[in-house]
Amino acid sequence: MTQPEIVLAGPGRLELRWGELSDPGPGEARVRVRRIGVCGTDIHAFHGRQPFFEYPRILGHELAAEVLSVNGDSTVQPGETVAVEPYLNDPDSPASRRGKTNCCESLRVLGVHCDGGMRPEINVPVSKLHLAASASLDQLALVEMLCIGQHAVNRSRVGKDDVILVSGAGPIGLSVISFLKGRGKRLVVADLSEKRLAFCPEMPGVDATIQVGPEIDFEKSLREASGGGLPDLVFDATGSRASMLSTFTLTAHGGRIVFVGLFQGEVVFDDPNFHRRELTVMSSRNATSSEFAQVIAAMESGEVDTDPWITHRIPFGDVTARFGEVISDPLLRKAVIEM
Ligand SMILES: [Zn+2]
Repeated sequence: MTQPEIVLAGPGRLELRWGELSDPGPGEARVRVRRIGVCGTDIHAFHGRQPFFEYPRILGHELAAEVLSVNGDSTVQPGETVAVEPYLNDPDSPASRRGKTNCCESLRVLGVHCDGGMRPEINVPVSKLHLAASASLDQLALVEMLCIGQHAVNRSRVGKDDVILVSGAGPIGLSVISFLKGRGKRLVVADLSEKRLAFCPEMPGVDATIQVGPEIDFEKSLREASGGGLPDLVFDATGSRASMLSTFTLTAHGGRIVFVGLFQGEVVFDDPNFHRRELTVMSSRNATSSEFAQVIAAMESGEVDTDPWITHRIPFGDVTARFGEVISDPLLRKAVIEM
């Protein structure tokens, strides 16, 4: 079939084109895309700041969809609404065989490494569709983003005695915070932006916020907010080298650091300091299938409420004209494209 597609032809150039969609292959479903979350990756690609990103590309990896048809046996039926897990892994790869489908050697992410969902219909492996019992389309469009936080929290092995710092209060930081409620002893959130931080005290579980800036002594503020010492567990969701470097000296002895945000370059640390503290540093990438189910359950039980996160809505037909304006709005928390 032929359908309209929004193609990122190059930095700053979103174009409406017509494209072909083949019939779904064996084990694939044809789905109608209903909502698309706009993510930092999309914004970086639009600005031409996503290294190794290849143009032209159809963006869109945070997808709420409706099943239209299935080629083969399936756990989903036409008419059902689903969240799409956009991580296309090779099930025979060594990482996948160890259950690490999120970081498989030949992983391709829909809308990043291959064409994504900014079009009315796409084909997706049935194994990558996650059924919702009662979640709304808006909620389903935010599932992938929340999964990034859920995966990072699962990686961290957070315990009830942990004093926790989350650096970066953008959508990924908020996703991490969502799954820390009631998990540690104390939760501190830091960001450069007053506007981003303003949303945090409303989130359950947040004990203190710190606005980072040249005029404050961050370590002193952090110790005060943490109850005297340094945090035992630090999540860095900034993607900033300076922030990531600072975690090595701002984490308590014996503590853990989880890099959720990605910096495109080298992060070099001082080994004696690293050893003295016996730090554990982890990266966190994407999420696994079981975490998609975990996140949908948390949304449906009301444990995580993402409705206040959506600050902007763009109809599909307006995306090429309004995308640049929406992503540069300082009030942007999360934008959703509506089909
Ligand atoms: Zn995303």
